[in-house]
Amino acid sequence: MTFRDLMLDKVLLDNIQHKGYTRPTPIQRQTIPHIINGRDVIGCAQTGTGKTAAFALPIIHSLGVTSHTRYIRALVLSPTRELAAQIGDQFAVYSRNTPLRHTVIFGGVGQNPQEKAIRNGIDILVATPGRLLDLINQGVVRLNKLEIFVLDEADRMLDMGFIHDVKRIMKVLPKQRQNLLFSATMPQEITALSKQFLVKPVRVEVNPQSSTVEKINQSIYFVDRPDKKKLLKHILTTEEIERVLIFTRTKHRANNLAKQLTKANLPAEAIHGDKSQTARTRALSNFRSGKTRILVATDIAARGLDVEAVSHVINFDLPNIPESYVHRIGRTARAGADGIAYSFCDVDERPYLKDIEKLIGERVTVNNSHPYVSDVPKPEPTPKEEEKTKSNKNSRNRRRRRNRNRNRNKNPQ
Ligand code: AMP
Repeated sequence: MTFRDLMLDKVLLDNIQHKGYTRPTPIQRQTIPHIINGRDVIGCAQTGTGKTAAFALPIIHSLGVTSHTRYIRALVLSPTRELAAQIGDQFAVYSRNTPLRHTVIFGGVGQNPQEKAIRNGIDILVATPGRLLDLINQGVVRLNKLEIFVLDEADRMLDMGFIHDVKRIMKVLPKQRQNLLFSATMPQEITALSKQFLVKPVRVEVNPQSSTVEKINQSIYFVDRPDKKKLLKHILTTEEIERVLIFTRTKHRANNLAKQLTKANLPAEAIHGDKSQTARTRALSNFRSGKTRILVATDIAARGLDVEAVSHVINFDLPNIPESYVHRIGRTARAGADGIAYSFCDVDERPYLKDIEKLIGERVTVNNSHPYVSDVPKPEPTPKEEEKTKSNKNSRNRRRRRNRNRNRNKNPQ
């Protein structure tokens, strides 16, 4: 299937070609026709699947590429500033040579330029919930003519505690509208929310979580916590690593690690929620351009990071939420590329590893040939193995019973 088969407007086809996409991704193939037809859609897809274009292209198509109104007709809510900025960048690319205007608003920066852009008139607004609510309350943003509402990364909105803001925003939207919800996972709260506001949605699911994972070469390093830094330096100095994203559990650990690596002649930058927007943008653009090869991040800051050619992801700390593991390592397999993911696991993190292996349905290969190996635990059986042991045990018991009965029949007392 080509983009032409999706019946998108010619201007959009030209812009897609200009961007260099040759074929629609699965989420685009399955979602775009429904959105163009005005249906509500639930898209289960994570970043890296091309989901932004899956909603941005049909939105531009539906708003009409030859006219503009200069009032907000489409709203995209995104949980983080980085993701919002990236969505804005994609709208800019896809709406080239159309009169449609969009802007991106988020907190942590002055509101004046954002306010000015809105007052000048826009058709599409990309926003994080907090800043949007502020601007709604100040009467700067009016959404009474909204036609299409997109809730992006709904599960992350929930994790980050934004869901109440989202609900408040939804209260001021016109009842009659098209709704699109995208989420990498579907926790119960999101399913409940979707039932409240989507009307007969089409459900589209791509990349069940494990299939992204399959393309990534994953390994686990059992290591004592105090040795993690040494192990990291060892890997960074002995392996060919083009561009690596390192995850830590806390902002403090991210800062600390970036500092220590830089001191050890391995220039690194940290990105997390406490950094100013300018510092985050600078760190990201240095990483994108290849000026810094090592970026240390926390989960929230890295959510939705769209950086091509991340060759390695290293989980310096394992996440306690197994889905985060999938999101993290997914940074290294963008748009079809393969990737490498290493995870360090100390004794306290072993239960997290168990949860991760349960989620991805496979055991992560253990790397025992590094200089800081801690005791390698005896692996617990996976559910599949447990099942097998159980059925072996059952058939053994059956055999024993049969033999006992046979013996009894042979030697009746
Ligand atoms: P997303 O899942 O929206 O974060 O997109 C992930 C990456 O895939 C972005 O860098 C997009 O520019 C890229 N992308 C989106 N659609 C396509 C496509 N059809 N072909 C190739 N790359 C794409």
